[in-house]
Amino acid sequence: SPASDAVRLDLDEVRSLALSVLRKAGLCEAQARPVAQTITECERDGRQSHGLLRLPGCVMTINSANFNRTAEPVISELTPAVVRADACFGYSLLAFERALPQLEQKAKALGVAVLAINNCFHFSALWPEVESIARMGLASMAMTPSHAWVAPSGGMRPVLGTNPFAFGWPRADTDPYVFDFATSAMARSDIAMAKLSGQMLPDGCGLDAQGRPSNDPAAVLAGAMTTFGGHKGSALSTMIELLAGPLIGDMTSLASMDFDAGERAAPCHGELIVAFDPALLGNDDPATNQQRAEQVFAGFTDQGARLPSQQRYLTRAHNKANGIEISRELYDRILAHGGE
Ligand code: NDP
Repeated sequence: SPASDAVRLDLDEVRSLALSVLRKAGLCEAQARPVAQTITECERDGRQSHGLLRLPGCVMTINSANFNRTAEPVISELTPAVVRADACFGYSLLAFERALPQLEQKAKALGVAVLAINNCFHFSALWPEVESIARMGLASMAMTPSHAWVAPSGGMRPVLGTNPFAFGWPRADTDPYVFDFATSAMARSDIAMAKLSGQMLPDGCGLDAQGRPSNDPAAVLAGAMTTFGGHKGSALSTMIELLAGPLIGDMTSLASMDFDAGERAAPCHGELIVAFDPALLGNDDPATNQQRAEQVFAGFTDQGARLPSQQRYLTRAHNKANGIEISRELYDRILAHGGE
Protein backbone atom coordinates (compact mmCIF):
# COMPACT_ATOMS: atom_id res chain seq x y z
CA SER A 1 0.00 0.00 0.00
CA PRO A 2 1.26 3.53 -0.79
CA ALA A 3 2.88 5.73 1.85
CA SER A 4 0.35 8.17 3.34
CA ASP A 5 1.78 11.07 1.33
CA ALA A 6 1.77 9.06 -1.94
CA VAL A 7 -0.88 8.09 -4.49
CA ARG A 8 -0.78 4.73 -6.30
CA LEU A 9 -1.96 4.62 -9.91
CA ASP A 10 -2.08 1.88 -12.51
CA LEU A 11 -0.78 2.73 -15.97
CA ASP A 12 -4.25 3.26 -17.47
CA GLU A 13 -4.94 5.77 -14.71
CA VAL A 14 -1.65 7.55 -15.48
CA ARG A 15 -2.63 7.83 -19.15
CA SER A 16 -6.16 9.06 -18.33
CA LEU A 17 -4.82 11.62 -15.86
CA ALA A 18 -2.37 12.97 -18.44
CA LEU A 19 -4.99 13.01 -21.20
CA SER A 20 -7.48 14.89 -19.04
CA VAL A 21 -4.97 17.66 -18.26
CA LEU A 22 -3.88 17.99 -21.90
CA ARG A 23 -7.48 18.06 -23.17
CA LYS A 24 -8.49 20.63 -20.57
CA ALA A 25 -5.55 22.81 -21.67
CA GLY A 26 -6.98 22.74 -25.21
CA LEU A 27 -4.55 20.36 -26.92
CA CYS A 28 -6.26 18.53 -29.80
CA GLU A 29 -6.88 14.80 -29.38
CA ALA A 30 -4.34 13.75 -32.03
CA GLN A 31 -1.54 15.66 -30.26
CA ALA A 32 -2.67 14.77 -26.75
CA ARG A 33 -2.62 10.98 -27.29
CA PRO A 34 1.13 10.55 -28.02
CA VAL A 35 2.06 13.08 -25.31
CA ALA A 36 0.00 11.15 -22.75
CA GLN A 37 1.51 7.91 -24.05
CA THR A 38 5.14 9.03 -23.62
CA ILE A 39 4.38 10.39 -20.13
CA THR A 40 2.85 7.00 -19.28
CA GLU A 41 5.84 5.09 -20.70
CA CYS A 42 8.24 7.23 -18.64
CA GLU A 43 6.25 6.54 -15.45
CA ARG A 44 6.09 2.82 -16.39
CA ASP A 45 9.89 2.70 -16.73
CA GLY A 46 10.61 4.73 -13.60
CA ARG A 47 11.81 7.78 -15.55
CA GLN A 48 9.74 10.24 -13.51
CA SER A 49 11.66 13.28 -14.79
CA HIS A 50 9.73 12.93 -18.08
CA GLY A 51 6.52 11.55 -16.60
CA LEU A 52 3.57 13.20 -14.86
CA LEU A 53 5.93 15.82 -13.43
CA ARG A 54 5.99 17.38 -16.90
CA LEU A 55 2.25 18.09 -17.09
CA PRO A 56 2.31 21.59 -15.51
CA GLY A 57 5.08 22.52 -17.99
CA CYS A 58 3.01 21.09 -20.84
CA VAL A 59 0.10 23.32 -19.85
CA MET A 60 2.46 26.33 -19.87
CA THR A 61 3.70 25.35 -23.35
CA ILE A 62 0.19 24.73 -24.72
CA ASN A 63 -0.82 28.21 -23.47
CA SER A 64 2.22 29.92 -25.01
CA ALA A 65 1.86 32.27 -27.97
CA ASN A 66 3.88 30.23 -30.48
CA PHE A 67 2.29 26.85 -29.81
CA ASN A 68 -0.23 25.37 -32.28
CA ARG A 69 -2.80 23.34 -30.31
CA THR A 70 -4.34 21.78 -33.41
CA ALA A 71 -1.14 21.21 -35.42
CA GLU A 72 -1.43 18.50 -38.08
CA PRO A 73 2.08 17.37 -39.07
CA VAL A 74 2.94 17.57 -42.76
CA ILE A 75 5.00 14.59 -43.93
CA SER A 76 7.01 14.84 -47.15
CA GLU A 77 9.79 13.02 -48.96
CA LEU A 78 12.82 15.29 -49.33
CA THR A 79 14.97 12.68 -51.12
CA PRO A 80 14.51 8.90 -51.42
CA ALA A 81 16.46 8.57 -48.12
CA VAL A 82 15.00 11.51 -46.22
CA VAL A 83 11.54 11.97 -44.78
CA ARG A 84 10.67 15.39 -43.43
CA ALA A 85 7.98 15.89 -40.81
CA ASP A 86 6.89 19.47 -40.27
CA ALA A 87 5.33 19.48 -36.81
CA CYS A 88 3.79 22.89 -37.58
CA PHE A 89 4.60 24.17 -34.07
CA GLY A 90 2.88 21.34 -32.23
CA TYR A 91 4.74 18.72 -30.19
CA SER A 92 7.41 16.54 -31.82
CA LEU A 93 5.64 13.31 -30.86
CA LEU A 94 2.75 13.24 -33.34
CA ALA A 95 5.15 14.18 -36.15
CA PHE A 96 7.41 11.27 -35.14
CA GLU A 97 4.47 8.86 -35.01
CA ARG A 98 3.15 9.92 -38.43
CA ALA A 99 6.58 9.76 -40.14
CA LEU A 100 7.81 6.52 -38.56
CA PRO A 101 6.34 4.13 -41.18
CA GLN A 102 8.17 6.02 -43.95
CA LEU A 103 11.44 6.03 -41.98
CA GLU A 104 11.17 2.25 -41.52
CA GLN A 105 10.30 1.63 -45.15
CA LYS A 106 13.16 3.82 -46.42
CA ALA A 107 15.77 2.34 -44.04
CA LYS A 108 14.76 -1.20 -45.02
CA ALA A 109 14.91 -0.32 -48.73
CA LEU A 110 18.12 1.77 -48.70
CA GLY A 111 20.07 0.59 -45.65
CA VAL A 112 20.01 4.06 -44.07
CA ALA A 113 17.33 6.74 -43.80
CA VAL A 114 16.90 10.09 -42.10
CA LEU A 115 13.87 11.58 -40.39
CA ALA A 116 14.08 15.35 -40.01
CA ILE A 117 11.38 16.74 -37.73
CA ASN A 118 11.00 20.50 -38.02
CA ASN A 119 9.18 23.22 -36.07
CA CYS A 120 8.45 21.03 -33.06
CA PHE A 121 8.05 21.83 -29.39
CA HIS A 122 10.13 19.23 -27.56
CA PHE A 123 10.03 18.15 -23.94
CA SER A 124 10.25 14.38 -24.15
CA ALA A 125 12.84 11.67 -23.55
CA LEU A 126 14.31 10.17 -26.73
CA TRP A 127 14.57 6.53 -25.65
CA PRO A 128 10.95 5.63 -26.51
CA GLU A 129 11.71 6.60 -30.11
CA VAL A 130 14.97 4.68 -30.57
CA GLU A 131 13.53 1.71 -28.69
CA SER A 132 10.52 1.53 -31.01
CA ILE A 133 12.83 1.74 -34.04
CA ALA A 134 15.04 -1.03 -32.61
CA ARG A 135 11.95 -3.23 -32.25
CA MET A 136 11.58 -2.88 -36.04
CA GLY A 137 15.04 -4.48 -36.42
CA LEU A 138 16.82 -1.16 -37.09
CA ALA A 139 19.68 0.60 -35.30
CA SER A 140 19.17 4.35 -34.83
CA MET A 141 20.42 7.60 -33.36
CA ALA A 142 18.21 10.49 -32.24
CA MET A 143 19.22 13.98 -31.15
CA THR A 144 17.72 17.38 -30.52
CA PRO A 145 18.83 20.81 -29.25
CA SER A 146 16.95 22.55 -26.41
CA HIS A 147 17.26 26.08 -24.95
CA ALA A 148 20.70 27.73 -24.56
CA TRP A 149 21.44 26.92 -20.92
CA VAL A 150 24.89 25.31 -21.25
CA ALA A 151 28.29 27.02 -21.59
CA PRO A 152 30.84 25.53 -24.00
CA SER A 153 34.01 24.07 -22.50
CA GLY A 154 36.32 26.98 -21.62
CA GLY A 155 33.49 29.55 -21.76
CA MET A 156 31.05 30.98 -19.24
CA ARG A 157 28.03 32.08 -21.25
CA PRO A 158 25.25 29.66 -22.31
CA VAL A 159 25.34 28.78 -26.01
CA LEU A 160 24.43 25.09 -26.12
CA GLY A 161 21.31 23.25 -25.06
CA THR A 162 21.13 20.26 -22.74
CA ASN A 163 21.05 18.42 -26.10
CA PRO A 164 20.08 14.79 -25.53
CA PHE A 165 21.49 11.96 -27.65
CA ALA A 166 19.97 8.48 -27.85
CA PHE A 167 21.02 5.26 -29.57
CA GLY A 168 19.16 2.00 -30.09
CA TRP A 169 20.41 -1.39 -31.28
CA PRO A 170 18.11 -4.35 -32.01
CA ARG A 171 18.86 -7.69 -30.32
CA ALA A 172 17.48 -11.02 -31.48
CA ASP A 173 16.17 -12.63 -28.31
CA THR A 174 15.95 -9.84 -25.80
CA ASP A 175 15.10 -6.17 -25.37
CA PRO A 176 17.09 -3.69 -27.48
CA TYR A 177 20.27 -2.02 -26.27
CA VAL A 178 19.32 1.64 -25.70
CA PHE A 179 21.00 4.63 -24.13
CA ASP A 180 19.67 8.15 -23.88
CA PHE A 181 21.15 11.06 -21.97
CA ALA A 182 21.57 14.81 -21.98
CA THR A 183 25.03 16.12 -22.93
CA SER A 184 24.92 18.52 -19.98
CA ALA A 185 26.71 17.21 -16.89
CA MET A 186 23.37 17.14 -15.06
CA ALA A 187 19.79 17.36 -16.32
CA ARG A 188 18.28 20.82 -15.78
CA SER A 189 15.27 19.32 -14.00
CA ASP A 190 17.64 17.63 -11.51
CA ILE A 191 19.32 20.99 -10.79
CA ALA A 192 15.90 22.58 -10.26
CA MET A 193 14.96 19.71 -7.91
CA ALA A 194 18.19 20.22 -5.94
CA LYS A 195 17.32 23.91 -5.55
CA LEU A 196 13.85 23.06 -4.27
CA SER A 197 15.14 20.54 -1.74
CA GLY A 198 18.02 22.75 -0.59
CA GLN A 199 20.76 20.35 -1.80
CA MET A 200 24.11 21.37 -3.23
CA LEU A 201 25.25 20.03 -6.61
CA PRO A 202 28.23 17.74 -7.17
CA ASP A 203 31.34 19.39 -8.62
CA GLY A 204 31.40 20.09 -12.35
CA CYS A 205 27.71 20.76 -13.05
CA GLY A 206 27.81 24.49 -13.67
CA LEU A 207 29.07 28.03 -13.27
CA ASP A 208 27.71 31.07 -11.50
CA ALA A 209 26.96 34.31 -13.36
CA GLN A 210 30.60 35.37 -12.96
CA GLY A 211 31.80 32.14 -14.62
CA ARG A 212 33.12 30.57 -11.41
CA PRO A 213 32.49 26.84 -10.80
CA SER A 214 29.57 26.57 -8.41
CA ASN A 215 27.79 23.88 -6.41
CA ASP A 216 24.82 26.14 -5.66
CA PRO A 217 21.85 25.13 -7.88
CA ALA A 218 20.34 28.64 -7.77
CA ALA A 219 23.64 30.17 -8.90
CA VAL A 220 24.00 27.61 -11.72
CA LEU A 221 20.43 28.15 -12.92
CA ALA A 222 21.18 31.88 -13.06
CA GLY A 223 24.62 31.32 -14.59
CA ALA A 224 25.40 28.41 -16.91
CA MET A 225 25.30 24.64 -16.88
CA THR A 226 28.33 22.73 -18.19
CA THR A 227 28.61 19.75 -20.52
CA PHE A 228 29.74 16.31 -19.34
CA GLY A 229 33.28 15.27 -20.22
CA GLY A 230 34.79 18.76 -20.66
CA HIS A 231 35.75 19.52 -24.26
CA LYS A 232 34.47 16.11 -25.43
CA GLY A 233 30.90 16.67 -24.26
CA SER A 234 31.10 20.25 -25.50
CA ALA A 235 31.98 19.04 -29.01
CA LEU A 236 29.29 16.34 -29.00
CA SER A 237 26.71 18.88 -27.91
CA THR A 238 27.87 21.21 -30.70
CA MET A 239 27.45 18.37 -33.20
CA ILE A 240 23.85 17.97 -32.03
CA GLU A 241 23.22 21.74 -32.42
CA LEU A 242 24.48 21.53 -36.01
CA LEU A 243 22.93 18.23 -37.15
CA ALA A 244 19.52 18.77 -35.58
CA GLY A 245 19.58 22.53 -36.29
CA PRO A 246 21.11 24.19 -39.35
CA LEU A 247 21.62 20.88 -41.21
CA ILE A 248 17.87 20.31 -41.31
CA GLY A 249 16.96 24.00 -41.62
CA ASP A 250 15.90 24.56 -38.06
CA MET A 251 16.68 26.57 -34.93
CA THR A 252 19.62 26.15 -32.59
CA SER A 253 19.25 26.30 -28.80
CA LEU A 254 20.16 30.01 -28.93
CA ALA A 255 17.47 30.66 -31.56
CA SER A 256 14.94 28.59 -29.61
CA MET A 257 15.59 30.71 -26.51
CA ASP A 258 15.04 33.92 -28.52
CA PHE A 259 11.88 32.47 -30.07
CA ASP A 260 10.53 31.71 -26.60
CA ALA A 261 10.87 35.39 -25.63
CA GLY A 262 10.66 34.66 -21.91
CA GLU A 263 7.43 32.62 -22.05
CA ARG A 264 9.15 29.58 -20.48
CA ALA A 265 7.55 27.18 -22.96
CA ALA A 266 9.33 23.97 -23.99
CA PRO A 267 12.15 24.50 -26.48
CA CYS A 268 11.09 24.73 -30.13
CA HIS A 269 13.42 23.51 -32.91
CA GLY A 270 14.13 20.34 -34.94
CA GLU A 271 14.97 16.73 -34.19
CA LEU A 272 17.15 14.42 -36.28
CA ILE A 273 16.75 10.64 -36.35
CA VAL A 274 18.94 8.36 -38.46
CA ALA A 275 17.97 4.70 -38.89
CA PHE A 276 20.26 1.91 -40.19
CA ASP A 277 19.28 -1.55 -41.36
CA PRO A 278 21.87 -4.12 -40.16
CA ALA A 279 20.37 -6.68 -42.57
CA LEU A 280 21.34 -4.51 -45.56
CA LEU A 281 24.61 -3.02 -44.30
CA GLY A 282 26.11 -6.17 -42.76
CA ASN A 283 27.62 -8.04 -45.75
CA ASP A 284 24.85 -10.63 -45.99
CA ASP A 285 25.82 -12.25 -42.71
CA PRO A 286 23.32 -11.06 -40.09
CA ALA A 287 23.89 -14.04 -37.80
CA THR A 288 27.64 -13.42 -37.45
CA ASN A 289 27.13 -9.71 -37.00
CA GLN A 290 24.50 -10.24 -34.32
CA GLN A 291 26.86 -12.68 -32.60
CA ARG A 292 29.68 -10.11 -32.61
CA ALA A 293 27.36 -7.51 -31.10
CA GLU A 294 26.24 -9.97 -28.44
CA GLN A 295 29.90 -10.64 -27.55
CA VAL A 296 30.26 -6.93 -26.75
CA PHE A 297 27.20 -6.99 -24.49
CA ALA A 298 28.38 -10.23 -22.82
CA GLY A 299 31.71 -8.51 -22.16
CA PHE A 300 29.77 -6.14 -19.92
CA THR A 301 27.38 -8.45 -18.20
CA ASP A 302 29.88 -11.30 -17.66
CA GLN A 303 31.88 -9.02 -15.36
CA GLY A 304 28.85 -7.63 -13.56
CA ALA A 305 28.70 -4.30 -15.41
CA ARG A 306 25.20 -3.27 -16.38
CA LEU A 307 24.02 -2.21 -19.80
CA PRO A 308 22.19 1.09 -20.25
CA SER A 309 18.41 0.46 -20.29
CA GLN A 310 18.80 -2.71 -18.20
CA GLN A 311 17.50 -0.90 -15.12
CA ARG A 312 14.65 0.62 -17.11
CA TYR A 313 13.47 -2.79 -18.38
CA LEU A 314 13.50 -4.19 -14.84
CA THR A 315 11.48 -1.25 -13.55
CA ARG A 316 9.08 -1.67 -16.48
CA ALA A 317 8.33 -5.27 -15.55
CA HIS A 318 7.74 -4.30 -11.92
CA ASN A 319 5.56 -1.25 -12.64
CA LYS A 320 3.44 -3.02 -15.25
CA ALA A 321 2.45 -5.47 -12.55
CA ASN A 322 2.23 -3.07 -9.61
CA GLY A 323 1.47 0.39 -10.96
CA ILE A 324 3.38 3.48 -9.88
CA GLU A 325 3.42 5.89 -6.96
CA ILE A 326 3.52 9.68 -7.14
CA SER A 327 3.64 12.16 -4.31
CA ARG A 328 0.35 13.53 -3.00
CA GLU A 329 1.74 17.01 -3.66
CA LEU A 330 2.28 16.29 -7.39
CA TYR A 331 -1.08 14.52 -7.67
CA ASP A 332 -2.88 17.53 -6.16
CA ARG A 333 -0.98 19.88 -8.46
CA ILE A 334 -2.09 17.83 -11.48
CA LEU A 335 -5.71 17.85 -10.28
CA ALA A 336 -5.45 21.65 -9.96
CA HIS A 337 -4.46 21.70 -13.66
CA GLY A 338 -7.70 19.93 -14.57
CA GLY A 339 -6.60 16.31 -14.06
CA GLU A 340 -9.35 13.76 -13.55
P1 NDP B 1 21.18 9.89 -17.18
O1 NDP B 1 22.43 10.60 -16.82
O2 NDP B 1 20.29 9.41 -16.09
O3 NDP B 1 21.58 8.67 -18.14
C1 NDP B 1 20.58 7.88 -18.64
C2 NDP B 1 21.14 6.77 -19.51
O4 NDP B 1 22.33 6.21 -18.98
C3 NDP B 1 20.13 5.66 -19.57
O5 NDP B 1 20.21 5.03 -20.81
C4 NDP B 1 20.58 4.79 -18.41
O6 NDP B 1 20.08 3.47 -18.47
C5 NDP B 1 22.06 4.86 -18.56
N1 NDP B 1 22.75 4.61 -17.30
C6 NDP B 1 22.62 5.29 -16.15
N2 NDP B 1 23.44 4.77 -15.19
C7 NDP B 1 24.10 3.75 -15.77
C8 NDP B 1 25.07 2.82 -15.32
N3 NDP B 1 25.53 2.86 -14.07
N4 NDP B 1 25.54 1.91 -16.19
C9 NDP B 1 25.09 1.86 -17.45
N5 NDP B 1 24.16 2.71 -17.94
C10 NDP B 1 23.67 3.64 -17.12
O7 NDP B 1 20.27 10.75 -18.17
P2 NDP B 1 20.06 12.33 -18.20
O8 NDP B 1 19.66 12.78 -16.85
O9 NDP B 1 21.21 12.97 -18.86
O10 NDP B 1 18.81 12.44 -19.21
C11 NDP B 1 17.54 11.98 -18.79
C12 NDP B 1 16.53 12.14 -19.91
O11 NDP B 1 16.33 13.50 -20.22
C13 NDP B 1 16.88 11.46 -21.24
O12 NDP B 1 15.82 10.54 -21.51
C14 NDP B 1 16.89 12.59 -22.26
O13 NDP B 1 16.35 12.25 -23.54
C15 NDP B 1 15.99 13.61 -21.58
N6 NDP B 1 16.25 14.97 -22.05
C16 NDP B 1 15.39 15.54 -22.95
C17 NDP B 1 15.60 16.82 -23.40
C18 NDP B 1 14.69 17.46 -24.40
O14 NDP B 1 14.82 18.64 -24.67
N7 NDP B 1 13.77 16.78 -25.00
C19 NDP B 1 16.75 17.63 -22.94
C20 NDP B 1 17.62 16.91 -22.06
C21 NDP B 1 17.37 15.63 -21.61
P3 NDP B 1 18.81 3.06 -17.50
O15 NDP B 1 17.64 3.74 -18.14
O16 NDP B 1 18.73 1.57 -17.54
O17 NDP B 1 19.12 3.58 -16.13
